[in-house]
Amino acid sequence: MSKDKDTSYNSKKPSHNPLAPSDPGGKVIKFKKKKPLTLENYVNGISNGDRVILSQAITKIESTIKADIELSQNIIDNCLPLTGKSIRIGITGVPGVGKSTFIEALGNYIIENSGQKVAVLAIDPTSQKSKGSILGDKTRMEKLSQNPYAFIRPSASGGSIGGVAKKTREAIFLCEAAGFNTIIVETVGVGQSETSVNSMVDFFLLLLLAGAGDELQGIKRGIMEMADCVAITKADGENKQTAEIAKKQYKSALKLYPAKENGWVAKVIKCSSITMEGISDIWETVQNHHNRMNDTGYLDRKRQDQSILWMHETIINEIKDSFYSNSRIKNIILELEDRVKTGKISPFKAANKLLDIYFSLNPD
Ligand code: GDP
Repeated sequence: MSKDKDTSYNSKKPSHNPLAPSDPGGKVIKFKKKKPLTLENYVNGISNGDRVILSQAITKIESTIKADIELSQNIIDNCLPLTGKSIRIGITGVPGVGKSTFIEALGNYIIENSGQKVAVLAIDPTSQKSKGSILGDKTRMEKLSQNPYAFIRPSASGGSIGGVAKKTREAIFLCEAAGFNTIIVETVGVGQSETSVNSMVDFFLLLLLAGAGDELQGIKRGIMEMADCVAITKADGENKQTAEIAKKQYKSALKLYPAKENGWVAKVIKCSSITMEGISDIWETVQNHHNRMNDTGYLDRKRQDQSILWMHETIINEIKDSFYSNSRIKNIILELEDRVKTGKISPFKAANKLLDIYFSLNPD
C-alpha cells in the first residue's frame, strides 16, 4: 500500500489557479481542481462501503491507460483480503424475459428481508452492436438503483467477451470488499457469455418465458445443464396456467440431464415480478444451495477452480491484446489476410509467420 497520506479528494483547501477568471466585481472566482485519488483513498473508500469511490475504482478497472491498469491492480490486491464473503448469483435469459424487472424485485426483496447489500453487475456482449448496454436504459431497476443498500453497474461497453468478463470478475471483488453480500451478475442469453458468467458465480439462474419455445429463447442444452434453478417468469394474470404447464415440462426435461457433480438438483420455480409470487422461493433456494455447498466444501473448491481458470484466461487475453495491438503485426496482418484469401499462403503458415515476428520482437 502506498505511504502517500494524501486525503485531498475531500480537502477544503482553496486552489491557487493564476488563470482563474475574475467576476465583474473584481473578485477572483476560484476553480477547485480535484486531485486524483490515491491508492489509499480508493482502498479506504471501498472498505468503508463508499459507493462513489467503488464506482470510480471500477472505472479504473475498465480503463486502458497503463497507469490506471497498474493502479486498479493495486486496488484489487489491497482489497483481496476483504473478498469472497458474498453469494454470487448469475442471471441469464433472452431480452424481454424480464431480467431487469426480476432483478429489481429480487434485489429489493433481499434488502428488505435480510438486510443484505446487493450489487448488480452486467455482462453484455451485444452492447457493441446495439450501441447501448443492457443496463444503459436508465429506467431499468429504478427503485433498486435508488436504494442505499444497492449498487448497480452496467458492463464496460465494447471489448471482447473475455475482456468484459475479466473486468466483471474484478468488479465482483471490489463490490465484496465494499461489503456487498449478494452480487448479481446479469447477462443476455446469447451463448458465450453464460459460460463466462457461470465461471464466476456460485449459483446460476436461468429465466425462461412460458410457451415461447426453447429455440426462440436460444436455450441451448449446455445452458440448461448449467442452471441451478430455472425460473419461469411472468407467471401472473393470463400467463398463470401456461407457466404451470411450462414448469412441469422443464422439470421433466431437467431430469434427462446427468446429475450435477455437487449433488444439487436444479429447481424449477414460477415467479412474477409484479405479484412477487415465487421471489421468496427463489431467494430461499439460493440460500439453501449456498449453505449446502459451503457445508460440503464444494463452494471453496469451485471458487479455487474458477480462480485458476481466470488466471489462464487472463494470460490468454493479455497475450491476444498484446499481439493484435502490436504495430508491426498490424502493419503486416492485412497483407497476410489477403494472401490467405487468395490461397497464396496457408492460414497455418501465415499464422506462424506472424507469431515468429511477434516473438522475435518479444524474446523471452
Ligand atoms: P429484460 O429485457 O429481460 O431485462 O426484460 P424486462 O425486465 O425489461 O421486461 C420486459 C417486459 O416484460 C417489460 O414490459 C416488463 O414490464 C414485462 N415484465 C417483466 N416482468 C414481468 C412479470 O413478472 N409479469 C408481467 N406480466 N410482465 C413482466
